[in-house]
Amino acid sequence: MRANFRMQRLFVEGGLQAGAVLEATEEQFHYLAHVLRAEPGTEILLFNGRDGEWRARIDYPTRKRIRFETLAETRPQPLQPDLLYVFAPLKVGRMDYLVQKAVEMGAGILQPALTQHTQGKAPPTEKITANVIEAAEQCGVLAVPEVRPAAKLADILAAWDRERRLIYCDEGEESHNPLPVLSGIRETKLALLVGPEGGFSEEERRQLRGLPFVTAIPLGPRILRADTAAVAALAVVQAAIGDWR
Ligand code: SAM
Repeated sequence: MRANFRMQRLFVEGGLQAGAVLEATEEQFHYLAHVLRAEPGTEILLFNGRDGEWRARIDYPTRKRIRFETLAETRPQPLQPDLLYVFAPLKVGRMDYLVQKAVEMGAGILQPALTQHTQGKAPPTEKITANVIEAAEQCGVLAVPEVRPAAKLADILAAWDRERRLIYCDEGEESHNPLPVLSGIRETKLALLVGPEGGFSEEERRQLRGLPFVTAIPLGPRILRADTAAVAALAVVQAAIGDWR
């Protein structure tokens, strides 16, 4: 069922069922009362990543509080996508873009990976989660991706679940077309890895290419910026072997 983009959609922590009453957070109060100037009785959509999407009515029990009362379910909770997206953190604005696009493109788990050429510090998990929630609110995604704490790439690979195929975007591939390689993948559990702005080190590339659960793919004849590569890679994987089929 398609999302309704005409109504305001908000993420809540509490359970959603018929007749549930939930309190708006301070931020939600500010947004609804001061930015949108929402009247009592305004209807919005609520989701929590577990109980589907619900139409709800807002009311103001005091001048400083907003409550939501659920009215009816508008969309059931979909299955959580299983695609694990492993990415090297980027500088702030581009990292926000990358996270938003990963949510829109159907990543199920986000795993920041610290590589040898990663610039800057590991982003706090809460910051990425806030970005994920904002993206889900805007693009109507109900299956909110899980965000894992940032970890070193070497540690992520050492603890790898070998039933999950890791598709690694390698700008050093000789061919340009990822489709023949992707069509040979038999696993249904998939992960995608895109490197940092400076690319992977030679040592990392050697290690990745030597691992039995890794498949390297090219993304065309041009070197893409890391955030562009993220969107391109998610699109080709989803179209060739993911949930676009
Ligand atoms: N090493 C490069 C350099 O500094 O010239 C650039 C790295 S690129 C900006 C960042 C990441 O995007 C790479 O590590 C790779 O994962 C992915 N990427 C970009 N273009 C690609 C391509 N044509 N094929 C496969 N992966 C690509």
